[in-house]
Amino acid sequence: MPQFVDDSPAGQCVFCRLAAGDVPAAMVHEDALTIAFMDIGQVNPGHVLVATRRHAATVLDITDEEAAAVMHTARRVAHAVQAAFHPPGLTLLQANGREGDQTVFHFHMHVVPRHAHDGIALSWPRKNPPTDVLRGHAARLRDALAA
Ligand SMILES: [Zn+2]
Repeated sequence: MPQFVDDSPAGQCVFCRLAAGDVPAAMVHEDALTIAFMDIGQVNPGHVLVATRRHAATVLDITDEEAAAVMHTARRVAHAVQAAFHPPGLTLLQANGREGDQTVFHFHMHVVPRHAHDGIALSWPRKNPPTDVLRGHAARLRDALAA
C-alpha cells in the first residue's frame, strides 16, 4: 500500500479538491454522486478510483444511495477497463480505516486491472474456527442488523 496518507477534513482532502476541479486529474467519469479518475499510483495501466462526490470518510459514513452509485460506477468502469486494456483479471478493492489500509479518508473503491505476478498481494491466515463459533458470530450480526 502507498505511504501517502490524507486524513484532511471535508472539502480539504485531495479527492474533494479533485472533485471541485482544484487539482489536476485524469477524469474518467462524473455524475451527481460519484467521480472516477486515474489513480496516480497506477499499479497497472487502467487503475481507476471511484469515489463519492460528497466527502464521507468510510463505508460507515456513506448513504445507501451513494453505496449503490459507487458500485454502479465501479461496474461500468470495470467493463470499460476490460474493453480498453483487456486484463486477464480485475480486482475491486475498498479499504476503511488505517488498520484497513485506507490512505485517503474520503470513501473510494479501486478498480484494478490484474496481471500474473503484478506485485499486488492481499492475503490473510485462515483460522477455521468451529461451526458453533461461526454461528455465534452470525447471531451477533443478525442482532446488530435487526437493531
Ligand atoms: Zn474529501
